[in-house]
Amino acid sequence: MLRGLNSDMSRLGESYLFSEVAERVEKYRLEHPGVSLISLGIGDVTLPLPCTVVERLIRAAWELGTPEGFVGYGDARGDIELRRAICERYGRRGVHFNEREIFINDGAKGDLGDVCELLGVGGTTLVVDPTYPVYRDASIISHRGLCTVRATEENDYLPTPCGLEVEPMLIYLCSPANPTGAVLTREGLFEWIEFAKLSGSLIVFDAAYEAYITDPTLPHSIFELPEARECALEICSFSKYAGFTGLRCGWCAIPEDSPVNRMWHRRLGARRGGASHLAQQAAIAALSPKGEAECMERVAYYMENARLLRRALEPLDVSVCGGEHAPYLWVKQRGKSVSSWELFELLLHRGGVVTTPGVGFGEGGEGYIRLSSFARREDIIEGAHRIAEIL
Ligand code: PLP
Repeated sequence: MLRGLNSDMSRLGESYLFSEVAERVEKYRLEHPGVSLISLGIGDVTLPLPCTVVERLIRAAWELGTPEGFVGYGDARGDIELRRAICERYGRRGVHFNEREIFINDGAKGDLGDVCELLGVGGTTLVVDPTYPVYRDASIISHRGLCTVRATEENDYLPTPCGLEVEPMLIYLCSPANPTGAVLTREGLFEWIEFAKLSGSLIVFDAAYEAYITDPTLPHSIFELPEARECALEICSFSKYAGFTGLRCGWCAIPEDSPVNRMWHRRLGARRGGASHLAQQAAIAALSPKGEAECMERVAYYMENARLLRRALEPLDVSVCGGEHAPYLWVKQRGKSVSSWELFELLLHRGGVVTTPGVGFGEGGEGYIRLSSFARREDIIEGAHRIAEIL
């Protein structure tokens, strides 16, 4: 018998949300062959990579096969050209970073979990409920205590720290939020920053969906508020901006004046090999003017999908959040006490529409489903039509 295994892993629950959805959909598919399924469930992109990105990938791959172009292990922080391009991108929003403050990763998910390693023994993390499950799961796996604040219709899905009596060591904030699609305003962010400074907490700001913000007054980065430099780090990704969910690349921004910058650098040296050279070259292309235009065309396509979904839901007796600055819509039937899994099963069995049950994002998601606009336009139109007929 094996001894010393991580017993906290049993607190994670039966399975990762999307595996459970996939199993139920597979069961339905086997029992109902011939039914055309529409997936508005998992948050993976569907459009192919931009041409500029693909051209750079091909070129970089060829170069690796030449004596002059070959590269092996890279800098622990990532490719300098890419870090500079990211600094320039921040600069356009009035946020100033140097290249020692940017750390390239192989996608945001790993870093979002790994930040728990920055905490000492007994550290507690605070997450919004409902939340992107990775924050919760990573906290549990690394033996952290967990406290939650509820995002509800009453607080516009944007809970504030007002009245909170906990002093968490780590606070996960996601804006635009997965799964609710809610976006923090400058004022809302400021309240969290003030709270973090008072309680000595580190804010982990997940900006994976920042490219979807359409209102110019809303902050894309927590560092648009200079006070955040004392108490925050930011994790971002090329996944939803440039379609890198398979290619894998993102970054973490940590101000040099924060002790966390050195800790993170040291930790990378000990634990990570960095993102692949090819993914980093592709990311450089995604940040070039032509690449950016192509990426933003994709973002606009998904946001038009979100608009179509919202329009279809408007006449129904449902409450809807999101879909305006985020690719997700957070939906609940009004005046009915239907559970998330019941709503999921109803839409699957009556309409062949796959959604994500809100309760999978936390107890606060009970009764909700999440619709994703990362589908092809024809599926969005058909899915919206089917949902409108059922609800
Ligand atoms: N952060 C949020 C809020 C997400 O929803 C996701 C993926 O769905 C990620 C991070 C993961 O991004 P990446 O593909 O870069 O690991």
